[in-house]
Amino acid sequence: MGAPVGLAIVGEASIWPAAGVSAALIVAGVVVLVAKARGAGAGAPITGPPPARTAFAGREPPFAIMLEHIVDPIILVAGMDEADIGDRRFVFANAAARDLLRIQRPDGPLTTAVRAPEILAAVEGALFAQESRETLYETRGVQERFWRVRVTPLTGAEWGSGGDRLALLTLRDETEVRRSERTRANFLANASHELRTPLASLAGFVETLRGHARDDVDARERFLSIMHAQAERMRRLIDDLTSLSRIELGEHIPPSGRVDMRAAVIDVVDALGPLAAERGVTLSPVLPPSDSAVALGDRDQILQVTQNLVENALKYTPTGKVVTIEVLGDFDFTTATTATAPSGAHLSLLTPEHAAGKRYVALRVRDVGPGIARANLPRLTERFYRVEGQRVLDKPGTGLGLAIVKHIVNRHRGGLTVESAEGVGSVFTAYVPQVQTAADGAVAPAP
Ligand code: ADP
Repeated sequence: MGAPVGLAIVGEASIWPAAGVSAALIVAGVVVLVAKARGAGAGAPITGPPPARTAFAGREPPFAIMLEHIVDPIILVAGMDEADIGDRRFVFANAAARDLLRIQRPDGPLTTAVRAPEILAAVEGALFAQESRETLYETRGVQERFWRVRVTPLTGAEWGSGGDRLALLTLRDETEVRRSERTRANFLANASHELRTPLASLAGFVETLRGHARDDVDARERFLSIMHAQAERMRRLIDDLTSLSRIELGEHIPPSGRVDMRAAVIDVVDALGPLAAERGVTLSPVLPPSDSAVALGDRDQILQVTQNLVENALKYTPTGKVVTIEVLGDFDFTTATTATAPSGAHLSLLTPEHAAGKRYVALRVRDVGPGIARANLPRLTERFYRVEGQRVLDKPGTGLGLAIVKHIVNRHRGGLTVESAEGVGSVFTAYVPQVQTAADGAVAPAP
């Protein structure tokens, strides 16, 4: 019975347009495997067209090993008596299925492995109504996972002495897709919320100015200045959102330019000088000689990282105090992950892959602001995250600055760390791969 069953099922597999060729392969493989297990392979009569085997020169592919190694869980279920729902058994489960469903025996009652009613109902439909069905399955545990389960009848296939019917279950892991859908939905909800607040305030003031404040010159001036601040806030939000999406779009392409970090810091310190003076805060750069800390990077993006970190430090530093901006060449991963001071908490917000042995250029911004509580550190690079209850001098931030920094540094294949102690201050360190220059006695870019 084995060979004819196999042929019939390969034909059936075309009912899965999405799964395509791999589905046909799986079905053919499972059936050959089952047929072999029953010793019904070689001598069985063949009906229907011969299988396409030219590529294997008459030899059968190693279906059993192939199925065992397919990353999607695959289970073959047999059932005979429609009225007796206890007779459904799994007769094959590949390694992924055994691992997921903690299957220890080669066969057993289906309900010992799967208890989800939708899957059991789909199995009934496949075995006794020849229906193919898709359903979703959620597994809990340390990490929640979402699976798309397809249940397909193996039409014409019978198995076992009593002529069991067969159904094939394949599970596809859709956790990542679900997670990114959720992230996108959350992001849209947060972005709309952030924009709605200043918009509502603007609309309210427009109404007031058209109504009872129409002839009140003082009130009008006051309201117009608040409206201006709200419009500015919306502009900052839109600018940051646009930058973030542009950075994300190009994040998979590493930059190839050369950026002298010393020059970048000088430019940012010059640009932020007036703001620092207005706040009574001193910006103190600590820089290496020219050309000794050249990063493999995109100049505009490196300037943006520097500006965001220095602006944050400025925002939270009290009048009369100093923000230190240090550039360090020949920086390595071990130094990056080592705290600079004994007190406080230290966390890597982004860690580059394959960092061991590589040389980096680091930008380290140190402030003596309020610091950030240990529990809040992991959330700093989340979009729209702002530490609650923090006193901000004038403009409230968008909560996107550090997310932008993280995505830029990630594009540069670099890292980002934070060290902070409440009441003492914070140190942010962004590091990106260094270009070796003639000054180092080498000319090739870092790998
Ligand atoms: P924002 O535009 O609000 O500054 P960021 O993403 O740059 O957004 O920062 C997120 C939050 O992290 C800030 O709202 C603030 O609560 C906190 N934060 C960032 N930098 C510092 C700092 N140097 N000192 C204290 N808190 C900081």
